[in-house]
Amino acid sequence: MKITGGQVYLGGPGKNYVTLRLETDQGIVGLGDGTLNNRESLTAAYLSDYILPMLIGMDPRRSEDIWQFLYRGAYFRRGPIAMAAFGAVDIALWDIKAKLAGLPLYELFGGRSRDGCLVYAHATGADIGELMDSVAYWQECGYRAVRVQCGVPGMPTAGYAVPEAAGAGPHYITDFSGIRPAVEIWDTDRYMRFMPDALARVRDRFGPELKLLHDVHHRLTPREAAVFAKSVEPVNLYWLEDPTPAEDQDALRLLRHHSTVPVAIGEVFNSIWDCNRLIEEELIDFIRVAVTYAGGITHVKRIVDLAGLHHVRTGFHGAPSHSPISMAAQAHLNVWAPNFGIQEYLVLGTPACDALFPSDHRLDDGLFHVSDAPGLGVDFDVAEAARYEYVAGSHPVVRLEDGTMWNY
Ligand SMILES: [Mg+2]
Repeated sequence: MKITGGQVYLGGPGKNYVTLRLETDQGIVGLGDGTLNNRESLTAAYLSDYILPMLIGMDPRRSEDIWQFLYRGAYFRRGPIAMAAFGAVDIALWDIKAKLAGLPLYELFGGRSRDGCLVYAHATGADIGELMDSVAYWQECGYRAVRVQCGVPGMPTAGYAVPEAAGAGPHYITDFSGIRPAVEIWDTDRYMRFMPDALARVRDRFGPELKLLHDVHHRLTPREAAVFAKSVEPVNLYWLEDPTPAEDQDALRLLRHHSTVPVAIGEVFNSIWDCNRLIEEELIDFIRVAVTYAGGITHVKRIVDLAGLHHVRTGFHGAPSHSPISMAAQAHLNVWAPNFGIQEYLVLGTPACDALFPSDHRLDDGLFHVSDAPGLGVDFDVAEAARYEYVAGSHPVVRLEDGTMWNY
């Protein structure tokens, strides 16, 4: 069996999805997602200019050897652009392998460990009133878990209380802001004074059953994070996400010494080497890597297995920047992983997205149900893809009130 051709598609409804389509001499097509949010054209170029020409003639069934070929062969290892490109290839190869076997992908990992997989949505508001409406909306949609973010008085655009997404509504895909990023202002003191009480009010209103999550977006120092974690313990969070900058693996020790709040980290990691110490020293409770950003299924499965040895459960990143292809790859890992925790899941089948990526995966009663179609269970409509083109965009950046740059 040989890879005979491939194309990279860049674009999509509201997002610059990087979609890899690999063709084989047996007529089986494999799909991969290499979308690196706001740097999409770089992954696309890495795939088109360097990887695709090398793949032609290779046996797609040898996904492990191809992964090692790409990783070791690059010489300059790791980094988000390369690992997202490898991720796209790896997802496509597993798609081909499972289609060749005539099985849904999860069967190749060891089969189902559960029927449906718990997911969470994002509730957000510019103030407490909007936030309560947003949490109520997602609960009415059947969600059993909700991430709770709120604008802080005196700091209305806090980086994660996205104004366009405030209030109720299923379509959490924000408009492109152009290549020059918007600037948001951050004030740790205001956040620390306001947010624990806001979370407590949500818990009071919605009761003990609804799982509540909160994302700090890497904004606190280790000491501040320890203070914050202690202060939110009565809320009984499902997790506290990214309390400190993710590249400092020692930062969580202080938090661990002072609080038992569950910690989730890792959405910006792109290899096992970014998180092995966090996992082995049991400084986290959930690992947030994504199959696209962390080198695909082959590499993320290694991270999941390591995590399973240390009581660390999965909570894969699932922002709308991931296309339905990588979300499907994660769904197959989720339904298999013995140490599955939860999946971030926001793209609720917008008609345009469904037209571009048809599938039978479905969300029901707060659980994601994986299709039993062979492979990933997602198709890609090439004719539909022709409607979209690349649009440059940027995340906002964050500064302190005096102008100092801070962490987005
Ligand atoms: Mg996050």
